Parts: sequence; C-alpha cells; structure tokens
Amino acid sequence: MKQMDADVIIVAAGLSGLAAAVAAAEKGASVIAFEKSNTTGGAANMAMGPLGIGSRIQKEHMISLTPGEAFRKHMFFTHYKVDARLVRDYYFKSGDTIDWLMDMGVKFAGVQRAFTAPEATRAYSDGEFTWHVVQPEGGGIPGPRAATAMVKAMTDRATELGVQFMLETPVKEIMMEDGEAIGVRAVDKDGEEIECTGGAVIIATGGFGCNPDMIRDLCGFEFGKDIFNFAIPGMVGDGIKMAWAAGAGHTPCTMELMYQLPDNLNHFYVEGAFRQPCLWVNRLGERFMPEDQIANTTFTGNAISMLPGRVAFAIFDEALLKRWKKHGPDLVSHVHPHDLYEHFEAQWERDIAAGYEPVAEGMTVEELAKNAGIDPEGLAATIKEYNEMCAKGFDEIFEKDRQYMQPIGTGKLYCCRQTVGAYGTLGGILINHKMEVMTPDYQTIPGLYAVGTDACNIYGDSYTFTLPGNTMGFCVNSGRIAGENAVDFALVEE
Ligand SMILES: Cc1cc2nc3c(=O)[nH]c(=O)nc-3n(C[C@H](O)[C@H](O)[C@H](O)COP(=O)(O)OP(=O)(O)OC[C@H]3O[C@@H](n4cnc5c(N)ncnc54)[C@H](O)[C@@H]3O)c2cc1C
Repeated sequence: MKQMDADVIIVAAGLSGLAAAVAAAEKGASVIAFEKSNTTGGAANMAMGPLGIGSRIQKEHMISLTPGEAFRKHMFFTHYKVDARLVRDYYFKSGDTIDWLMDMGVKFAGVQRAFTAPEATRAYSDGEFTWHVVQPEGGGIPGPRAATAMVKAMTDRATELGVQFMLETPVKEIMMEDGEAIGVRAVDKDGEEIECTGGAVIIATGGFGCNPDMIRDLCGFEFGKDIFNFAIPGMVGDGIKMAWAAGAGHTPCTMELMYQLPDNLNHFYVEGAFRQPCLWVNRLGERFMPEDQIANTTFTGNAISMLPGRVAFAIFDEALLKRWKKHGPDLVSHVHPHDLYEHFEAQWERDIAAGYEPVAEGMTVEELAKNAGIDPEGLAATIKEYNEMCAKGFDEIFEKDRQYMQPIGTGKLYCCRQTVGAYGTLGGILINHKMEVMTPDYQTIPGLYAVGTDACNIYGDSYTFTLPGNTMGFCVNSGRIAGENAVDFALVEE
C-alpha cells in the first residue's frame, strides 16, 4: 500500500473540489485531490456559468442587486426551511468569488438571467441578472459546455500552486480516528491501494445523478421511466455514502428538477423548438399551467412531475412554426441553439423516421392524439375551447399572455412529449455554514468538510430559478469557503 500525506485532502476534483483546492493552496497548504475520472471539472464541463452577486462585471454593467437582497429573496422562496446562515455566507462571498475566478484567468461573456422573454411574462418577473456565463475558449456564442474554459483555468491555477491531482484514483473510504477525519483510502487505476493522511478532508463528489437506486429511494423517481436526468458517469453518491459511514447527518435529497427529452443533446433542435408558449396539455388532453410560464424550467419540471404518467405534450401547428421561422421564437433560451428553426425540420424528419418516441405528428387532431398517446376526446375538447378563447383574445382559464393565444389550425400538427429531467441531485450531507460536516445531533466532525452538490441543501423542494447560476455558484463558493477553513483547521492541528 502506498502512503501519502497532505495538509488538505480533497475527495474529487469537480467544480467544488477545484475551488477548495485552489483556496487551500493559496493559503499555503499542501493539497492532494483524488479524482475518479480521467479529467477535472465533473458536471461543470457541461455547464455555462455560476451565480455571483456584487462582482466587478456586474458593477460595470450597473446591475445593482446586493447580496442582502438576494439572501432575502432566497429565504422568501424557500420559506426559511433551509440554513439561513449558510445561504447568507454563500451570497456575501459570491461577488468576490467571481472576481477571484477572473483573476485566475476566467473570462465571462456577460451576466444573464435564465432566459429572455417580454418583461411582463418572464417566468419570474423578479428574475435576476446573476448568471455569469463563461466565455467559451476560442470565443463564439456561449452554450452548453462553455464552462470547460473555467474548469481549465481553475485546474491550471491549482497546478501552478502545487496541487497534486491523482486522476483515475477514486476514494473508497474516509479514515476516522476517535471521531476525527484523519485521511482517505483510495485505489489508483492500476489497482494499487493508497492511504493518504492529512489535517483535513473535503468531500466533493457531485451527488448521485448516475445512481438509479439512490434516485428511486431518496428522490422517488424511476430513472429512464419518469425522469431523464443528466447521468454523468461516476456520480453515484460515493461521497455521501462515505460521509454517512463516517457519522455524518443526513439531509433531504432532491433532484435539481427541470424538463428535458430523453437523450436530449442529440435532439436539441427539437427540444428547443418546443420550449415555447404554444398549447401544452397532459395525457388527458387538458391544459395544466399558463404556457407563458414554461420557460421556468424548475416550475415546469415540478408541474410535469405532478401529472398522470409524469408526461406533458407541447403542440403547435404549421402557422405557428412559420411565424417562429420568420420572427424567431417567442421565448428565447440561452441554452439551446440560436438558429433553432433553421434546423428544426431536418431534425424533426429524422426523428420521425427513426421512431424517436417523444415526437408525433398528425394531419388532424384525432390522428395527432392517437400517434402521441393523448386522450383524443379530451384533446379535441381542449382545442375547441382553446381556439374559442384565442378568437376572443383572452385565456379565461389561466390568463396566458394574449400575444401567445395562437389557435391550433389545419395542416400538419407537431407534438412533443415532455418529460421530467434534472441537472443532477442536491443534498445528502449535513453541514454548517463553515462547510464542516455535522453528526445527526449537529456536532461537528473534526477535520471533515463537505461541499458542492453532495451538501447543497439550500433550495428546499425547488431550485431557485430566480437567482440563476445557483448550483455552480453554491459549488464554487462552498468549495472556496471549505478550502480556507480546512487550512485553518489543518495548520492549527499541526
Ligand atoms: C448540462 C448541464 C448544464 C449545467 N449548467 C449549469 C449552469 O449553467 N449553471 C449552474 O449553476 N449549474 C449548472 N449545472 C450544474 C453544475 O454543473 C453542477 O451543479 C456542478 O458542476 C456540481 O459541482 P460539484 O463539485 O458538486 O460536482 P461535479 O462538478 O460534478 O464534480 C464531482 C466530481 O466527483 C468525482 N468523483 C465522484 N466520486 C468520486 C470518488 N469516489 N473519488 C474521487 N472522485 C469522485 C467525479 O468524477 C467528478 O469529477 C449544469 C449541469 C449540467 C449537467
């Protein structure tokens, strides 16, 4: 067995682990980060950017939101059923953390709210400009994976500071002695066991989005049946299970819910094309929410999870497609391609020909209902009622914004079955605002810290879409705070 030693040991080099590594090394600690995969960054390599409040770039753009305002909004949204001190410390650090990232070479394309829609109908009229979208390497319009440039800058900075990365070397166990964390046991890619002792251990393994059993048992969804979340290989709950084995308290676990198509990145034009305030119904053919709200992916994911079979159906006709092709979409997503309707039909034809299950078309309402799996009578009744309301220019049921009240006409009808999705999981390990792991009776476990999604229990039952970039924001700030505190602990211990 190989023996190693470091002041601070980091379990995983994803986003929060990288932040912890840089922060600890900047304070003069020796740092070893064990990483299961062959690269750093974890899910952040798929992402676009973190939240920050009070950053230099916000000040330059006269975005005047304060950390205190964000804190109040967050706590109102979560009904104070989360740790207020933890939320407060995160938001008050977040602006400085963006500056810190910029100082290590991260470039941001700008600061965004989660999506663009007319002021009056934005999913949240109080949605804030907090999402610092990373400038992709080589420039261009930011989209999924833009944040790989940030991961690279953080990895470079950590390396420059002497952080030792042990790639393809998963941690298997936290070593405990007299109730204190004293190190980890890991196994490298050749199967050699490593025992690494040190002053403090920080757990940052990114949750369990790729563990169907934990998703079922802890969150109540059946992966591949009623949820189609991003399942990044390796995110199987290792850190949470190791922390629990070391005596950590449990927190509720949730999915960072939204809605998405199965294998969505290979059907991205179709997925994006239907994220519009057209007609949305459930399996019975009934409308279930004001469609001008569907750009709030958290709320829509929640709504779909409450429907029969946990599915919804978005429907539009040729006339609406023609309008979007000419004038662009009603709701602009910052995530999906910007030339959506130039490529939609080609992907649509391919998907229909390949029998991609979520898509269906028909030349009549009845044919569409049959092909899509919607109750035909229910759908016919809804479309009759909906078209009458469109003619009056007023949605008597949900008061959907009148500019989106476009009737379902004749010609080809397009339908896409919408399913619940998630970016990953949230929560599991009980921590305090210093990111120290706590026992079920709220005693800290000396030397043990947990950060990122493994410990992110600050949203209550629903992700706060009002303050976008929030998961990456929590990850990078919790990592940074833990890195700093772990050094204080480890060096005092020596
Ligand atoms: C498509 C997509 C887009 C997203 N976009 C955004 C966005 O724009 N803004 C935002 O705020 N959030 C976004 N998110 C969410 C965000 O990326 C994650 O919340 C964040 O990266 C989680 O950070 P983390 O440190 O907790 O875990 P990760 O960054 O996922 O890292 C976890 C790491 O742990 C490693 N690991 C696992 N087990 C072990 C073990 N036993 N030993 C050692 N290593 C281990 C993994 O290999 C991985 O590298 C997005 C997510 C996805 C999937």
